Amino acid sequence: VVRIADLHKSFGEREVLRGIDLEVAAGEVVCVIGPSGSGKSTLLRCVNLLEQPTGGRIEVLGVEVTDPDVDIDRVRTHVGMVFQQFNLFSHRTVLENCTVAQRRVLGRSKDEAEKVALENLDRVGLADRAQSHPSQLSGGQQQRVAIARALSMGPALMLFDEPTSALDPELVGDVLGVMRDLAEGGMTMLVVTHEMAFAREVGDRVVFMDDGVIVEQGPPAQVIGTPQEERTRTFLQRVL
Ligand code: ATP
Ligand code: MG
Repeated sequence: VVRIADLHKSFGEREVLRGIDLEVAAGEVVCVIGPSGSGKSTLLRCVNLLEQPTGGRIEVLGVEVTDPDVDIDRVRTHVGMVFQQFNLFSHRTVLENCTVAQRRVLGRSKDEAEKVALENLDRVGLADRAQSHPSQLSGGQQQRVAIARALSMGPALMLFDEPTSALDPELVGDVLGVMRDLAEGGMTMLVVTHEMAFAREVGDRVVFMDDGVIVEQGPPAQVIGTPQEERTRTFLQRVL
């Protein structure tokens, strides 16, 4: 589903990604961990070209997005993205938040879009809040709306960038629970997270990044439980 080869990204003089090779297969859940500033968000943002790579190749859903002639909007239609900040439309209801892009981008009718939105709001446990405005919801509920909104587009790949790090601790579990359900349902997911328990239990593979490179990757029990590299051990000692 995703194939990244020798990806480089610089901001001015500073090389933030220094040759990343990473593949995500269909149905796989890959969790990316690593210290602040190691390039995790930049990597994720390169996958749907929110950042333009300075070198290397990225293939997403069979399309080479690093090809200068790529129709990136077509690719993005199939890639759901959930950030730390939920970015909901505050003047629209929860239901409208989940229907706007379906109607505008996919050309679905109002009825069809609402039906899909309600199914996905139900999946995240918020069907009863369809008529609320985002400000009437907790942070955890807002993030679940953001997930329902992404799912309403029928994505083949979901990208998550620390979806729980802006939340109060007691709200984290519900969001992780939704992500776990999604993973168990077979969704292909690339997840940047600080939640080691989630990475360990839900991830099929864990990737440890430091200073713009992948230092090690493998099954969660191996990378988190018995890391091979000194840098991984140092990082885990700080976060576990
Ligand atoms: P965190 O865990 O804090 O979110 P991260 O691993 O996601 O960190 P990135 O956000 O990818 O790290 O940033 C990697 C490096 O790139 C940092 O040094 C950051 O300052 C730099 N950087 C990111 N975006 C830009 C930008 N638009 N312009 C210049 N530098 C940037
Ligand atoms: Mg980040």
